[in-house]
Amino acid sequence: MSSEEINVLVIDINASTRKLWQEFLLNEGYKTESAATIDEALRLAQKGYFKIIILDITAKEKSGFEELQNFKNINHKICVIVSTARPSIKSAVEAMREGAYDYVSMPFEPEEIRMVLRRAVERYYLLVEANQKEYYRELSIIDGLTGLHNHRYFHEIILREFSRAKRYPQAFSLLMVDIDAFKSYNDTHGHLAGDDLLKSVGRFFVESIRCVDMVFRYGGEEFAILLPQTSKEGASAVAARIVNLIQKSTPITISVGVASFPEDGQSKEELIDHADKALYQAKCLGKGRMCVFDREKQ
Ligand code: GH3
Ligand code: MG
Ligand code: MG
Repeated sequence: MSSEEINVLVIDINASTRKLWQEFLLNEGYKTESAATIDEALRLAQKGYFKIIILDITAKEKSGFEELQNFKNINHKICVIVSTARPSIKSAVEAMREGAYDYVSMPFEPEEIRMVLRRAVERYYLLVEANQKEYYRELSIIDGLTGLHNHRYFHEIILREFSRAKRYPQAFSLLMVDIDAFKSYNDTHGHLAGDDLLKSVGRFFVESIRCVDMVFRYGGEEFAILLPQTSKEGASAVAARIVNLIQKSTPITISVGVASFPEDGQSKEELIDHADKALYQAKCLGKGRMCVFDREKQ
């Protein structure tokens, strides 16, 4: 990455020092602007394109470094390098504790500051890359329509739930939910109304379960709900509650299949299959209801 794209904001009360910094930075290929006070610097930083700040604290009278947080609030990746005349190195160290990236002593040594800046730039791009990765990861596990976690994430989380439940050991349950006669809802009201309904059904589920429970859009008009540390008995109560709630609050009904660890499955595939079988049974018995998986009836 070339240093031309890097904007450095210099904050120093002393006009001749600001000039010195500017000449040096321009010569090194950085873009730069400067400010005499924190207020002025904060106004400039709002422009959002500064990646590095050089903040002189030699003349600082008050203790504390709230300004560091103010800069980070504008751009949390911003790198603040503190500059200081030797007598105030103690406060430079304090600034680093408060989130500054590094400090340089004044008058600065070109070789030293070159290295500090190079490392700051590298760090900035590492942070950008990490944020992008996190963003794409987030995109890959979220369902675009409902904002719920998707099928892919469900498979990750159910595996994690299995290993946790086996280790401790404790129960957990899976609800497979399918909207009844959704094809005819789409045919009658149109696909967009169908989409809206999917969104509000998703919201209803999220609002009617505990915050440790997790709702996923499993596929088209199917949802999966994972209930950690919940026995079959607890899970069937939750299933009955959401069947009633959806019936009362929306123009459609749902069918739900319940399967629980450990009794209904020792693997992800087995548990999903058994929750599906219970769901199928709920459909066969007339829809708008929940069924609990029962080995005896298979
Ligand atoms: P059943 O009671 O047996 O579950 O019948 P159903 O009509 O709900 O099930 P079927 O599998 O026959 O149809 C599912 C419908 O869900 C058909 C499909 O167009 C619709 N669907 C799937 N994904 C979406 C979506 O993202 N938006 C909308 N609007 N409809 C969707
Ligand atoms: Mg279906
Ligand atoms: Mg359906």
